[in-house]
Amino acid sequence: MCWESAKTRHRVCLDDRPSLCLVGGCQHPPLACQGWWRGMHWSHHLSSHARHWGAAGREGGRRCSARHGAMAGPAPAQVGFRKGPGTLLSRLASRSQLELVLCAVAVSLALLLSVAVVTLAIQYRRDPSHSTCLTDACVRVASKILEALDTEMDPCQDFYQYSCGGWIKRNPLPNGRSKWSTFNSIWDQNQAIMKHLLENATFNSSSEAERKTQRYYLSCLKEQRIEELGSQPLMELIDKIGGWNITGSWNQTSFMEVLKSVSGTYRATPFFTVYVGADSKSSNSNIIQVDQSGLFLPSRDYYLNKTANERVRLGAGHAANSNRGNPWQWGASSTGTQLASPSCRLAAHPREVGAMISTEAGLGVPQVLAAYLDYMVELGTLLGGTPEPTRLQMQQVLDFETQLANITVPQAERRDDEKIYHKMSIAELQLLAPAIDWLDYLSYALAPLELADTEPVVVYGDTYLQQVSDLINDTDRSILNNYLIWNLVQKTASSLDQRFETAQERLLETLYGTRKSCTPRWQTCISNTDDTLGFALGSLFVKATFDRDSKAIAEEMISEIRAAFEVSLDQLDWMDEKTRQAAKEKADAIYDMIGFPDFILDNKELDDVYDGYEVSEDSFFQNMLNFYNFSAKVMADQLRKPPNRDQWSMTPQTVNAYYLPTKNGIVFPAGILQAPFYARNHPKALNFGGIGVVMGHELTHAFDDQGREYDKEGNLRPWWQNSSLEAFKNRTACMTEQYGRYTVHSEKVNGRQTLGENIADNGGLKAAYNAYKSWLQKNGEEKRLPALGLTNHQLFFVGFAQVWCSVRTPESSHEGLVTDPHSPDKYRVIGTLSNSRDFVEHFGCPLGSPMNPGKHCEVW
Ligand SMILES: [Zn+2]
Repeated sequence: MCWESAKTRHRVCLDDRPSLCLVGGCQHPPLACQGWWRGMHWSHHLSSHARHWGAAGREGGRRCSARHGAMAGPAPAQVGFRKGPGTLLSRLASRSQLELVLCAVAVSLALLLSVAVVTLAIQYRRDPSHSTCLTDACVRVASKILEALDTEMDPCQDFYQYSCGGWIKRNPLPNGRSKWSTFNSIWDQNQAIMKHLLENATFNSSSEAERKTQRYYLSCLKEQRIEELGSQPLMELIDKIGGWNITGSWNQTSFMEVLKSVSGTYRATPFFTVYVGADSKSSNSNIIQVDQSGLFLPSRDYYLNKTANERVRLGAGHAANSNRGNPWQWGASSTGTQLASPSCRLAAHPREVGAMISTEAGLGVPQVLAAYLDYMVELGTLLGGTPEPTRLQMQQVLDFETQLANITVPQAERRDDEKIYHKMSIAELQLLAPAIDWLDYLSYALAPLELADTEPVVVYGDTYLQQVSDLINDTDRSILNNYLIWNLVQKTASSLDQRFETAQERLLETLYGTRKSCTPRWQTCISNTDDTLGFALGSLFVKATFDRDSKAIAEEMISEIRAAFEVSLDQLDWMDEKTRQAAKEKADAIYDMIGFPDFILDNKELDDVYDGYEVSEDSFFQNMLNFYNFSAKVMADQLRKPPNRDQWSMTPQTVNAYYLPTKNGIVFPAGILQAPFYARNHPKALNFGGIGVVMGHELTHAFDDQGREYDKEGNLRPWWQNSSLEAFKNRTACMTEQYGRYTVHSEKVNGRQTLGENIADNGGLKAAYNAYKSWLQKNGEEKRLPALGLTNHQLFFVGFAQVWCSVRTPESSHEGLVTDPHSPDKYRVIGTLSNSRDFVEHFGCPLGSPMNPGKHCEVW
């Protein structure tokens, strides 16, 4: 599970992939987490402190399996060819269309492979020094790289297109996804592995936590039971906490009581969010923290900046359509597990491209706010409301959220922690925001702890809290109650029957451009399990997949990259000696965690972590409620304890990495320690360009515009001399301006919002490249990959760029621009490399070419 301390605020990750925590909560409202999880969990971060990145989109999908008869229990692997009697033709006829497609693909691949082998043999004979690597692994990876390239493109014109053009062509956006990338593809593979583990009929773990994990997963697969219950479980819950004016009578005197239930017991985050985490100014102790929250849509822009949201939808349809083609193609199925049931996919009434254009451009632009209102009304009526009064009241809730959006501070203006950190007592908080009875509220949310009004609290954004308090006092109680219950409804509805899922899918389609699809139920359930019992699931995953040697290898690479970073640090001409010394000490003090936290392999410790969480195979909805309740208790339990290094904010199977400033620590989960980021038998050039850059990226976060405010102990305190601070700000201004010039579908990248990640990308690339050079000095030149015509130095840069190959709908691109702290993938490549003198030199890019504009921004 994800402890509250994991939350987001202070985590910077490689990608905006979700960290998969129910508990952590989204900094954005749940749907922002969409990829990651609809309607409830998830937090993200790389991006904001929290949300997933485009990665592994766990996006909504229709539940299909029940309807098509393939339910609980291990699904037979459907990829691959079955043996059967009969003639070739009759066997072909009996195969599914998917099999035929796969068969055709296999035949053409075999042909390609033989051509490649012949070419290689010829080349080998012409290469007397045998400086080409012709191992199986080298041939395979070379062919993958070649496939992804667009060799027609001049690398000095557009290195992203050069590196990823072929990949983009071969990877139309899969049905049901709004973004598709390397990260998604690895996540899909990891999910298939977890499915296999959980559906193992002989599963008989000696760990109770692992058994809970299986029970939870199976309860999620029981769709028939979920359908039978319908909306009943949520209706009962609403009654229990006082009713809802939309569906019946409600208790008009209980604002505080309802707030306590909704956000204390069920961990929704109306108005604000409360969590327990390390105190930024005293990182050895945990403290209660309060921050802004309460919007359902991905960011305030969706409520306020209506023209921007609509312009994107109108203007950008064409570009994405080229990626929406073949509904059969999914990213990965290396394990041979069924990734999607063909019959289900066929039933998914995909929109035709032509029809989509006319919808977007002609028949009235679907508006996000209108779609959101429809969604609210639909859920309200599914829960028993009558349409017209429901619409009227939901409109009021939407208007209220718009007022909240108005006082919500944009992420780009919240990057200076020194400025937004305010420590005060509960009594002072009471004076700041009197609409809430804070002692009553916090005592409830953190029960059974006893709190006094002298208890310290860190408030991020005191102005917001003051204003939200005024807003609450000025708003009609019935609207407040409707808003509170709506928060509960949207958080829990995705555990209900198909109708709720279908409604959400429609909204996702408008928000992210996600085409309707049938995400197999098991995939949804794996994601849910990862969100709740992710570390117990991680125990199974790690035991089945993780190579113990990986830890030592990763340690070694980190130390090489840290050494390279420190050499550059010594050479910076803009930094005074005192600050440089402190920076060096900070770099030395960064501790790393690789693969998984140790406790997951100790049955007793693992069981203790989930002790008190009741899971039954019979009620998915109740399992989810129990989890919220349980996570609230875990949060309370943290307050009087010091922050614990073993508490990771990403599960081991996650394909991501992060830096946590309050611990001055970097974390690389097992999920990312695999190809294409790292493989033992790949050339070092690729490993340094892949996982090496990731390591450099996380390390550099310790020195980005936010991380630099924390000292080596993880405390927020000024440790820079003024002259160096000024020089740092001038250098970062260069990057803010550089990235601010980039556009996607004529919408600008926010150079301020993405500054920290851009600094990390640039510093990470440089450190990894220098580490590779040192490796070469020590170990000598390595053999080249065949057929690519690239030097190993060039291969390093191509390997780096290909990590970021991705396709995305215009709606999803827009969402990224307004919410993600990362630049769009294309500019993570172009921005970084056009700043790199090493890149320019190795590709011989002439001065003035797009990849060598002459001005190079450089911070670290
Ligand atoms: Zn990052």
